[in-house]
Amino acid sequence: MDLSQSMHVLTWEVTKACQLHCRHCRARAIPHRNSGELSVGEIGAVLDDMAEKLSFKPIIVFTGGDPSERDDLDQILEASISRGFITSISPSVTPRITDELVHHWAEMGVRAISLSIDGPNPEIHDRFRGVKGTFERSLQVAHAVVESGMSLQLNTSVGRFTIEGLEQMGELAKALQVSSWEVFFVIPMGRANLKSSLDAQEIERVLEYLADYQGKVGFRVTAVGAPHYVRVQHEGGYTGDQPPRQIVREARGFAFIDHLGEVYPSGYLPLSGGNVRERSIVDIYRESELFTSLRDPHRFAGGCGACDYSVACGGSRARAYAVFGDPLAPDPGCILSGAELPSQTVARIATLRP
Ligand code: SF4
Repeated sequence: MDLSQSMHVLTWEVTKACQLHCRHCRARAIPHRNSGELSVGEIGAVLDDMAEKLSFKPIIVFTGGDPSERDDLDQILEASISRGFITSISPSVTPRITDELVHHWAEMGVRAISLSIDGPNPEIHDRFRGVKGTFERSLQVAHAVVESGMSLQLNTSVGRFTIEGLEQMGELAKALQVSSWEVFFVIPMGRANLKSSLDAQEIERVLEYLADYQGKVGFRVTAVGAPHYVRVQHEGGYTGDQPPRQIVREARGFAFIDHLGEVYPSGYLPLSGGNVRERSIVDIYRESELFTSLRDPHRFAGGCGACDYSVACGGSRARAYAVFGDPLAPDPGCILSGAELPSQTVARIATLRP
């Protein structure tokens, strides 16, 4: 698949409403729905546009906020499934997510459910998610998903508050029979800040652990927000002599639509390439200046532009933007990028670190 022509994954925030209070929340979720959310009809029109123009249909992940806050979620899912998109949901684990609802989604044809579990015990997870009891209920929902026949994807945010439990988390992923374990490196945006994020050395160590762990388990282990995973895998010999493939990252195989129709390179990079109410999402993805610049390694500054892995990796454009205000800046989360944090930022980190 040519990643400049089509996304591999489209994440779609259908609402910002959510009843959890996660420390790192990218969306800065709110308790109530916004009256300006895209309607089912508007969502259907975007899906028609993609079905017509794309030779490869992306996997669509409906997220939020909490997508189950929408009482028309079934219609949204039906619109996607009936047009042949591989459809998955990333719900928040609240009392609304019953075993019956999970089985209902499976019967509708939903292929996968993504659940967030950030630590191997309630102390880490519930503290991070802001609501007691979420950990235990997440385990129950995870079992229901596997029992229903859908694929279970486990998402784990790794940052200052969760790093201590990461290896046990990997064991929990195995015990829960996940299809994939996606480790999200906290980007300092939304409710997350530099206090929550890891530095380049810490990220390197986590990536080495993930590359090693990937070789020991039968499910996919991926890193989100750290495309230099591809470098760590290659340098560590985990990929043999094969040259690294381009990893999916912001604007390259990936796009994000928010509840108002703005199209972003990622949910963690708050720069819009356009709005689906005004322009085709396919045109925004293929032709907008923002999206094309983020796919062009010659435009990257510092170490990322000069790096042997600039094509395969290219760095997290979201972290570059969050720290430097420039999505083409070097990724300060990589030890090779040569990115020097601004002195004000260094001083601020020093005051934040425990
Ligand atoms: S310097 Fe940039 S392009 Fe090179 S491996 Fe690090 S993040 Fe990737």
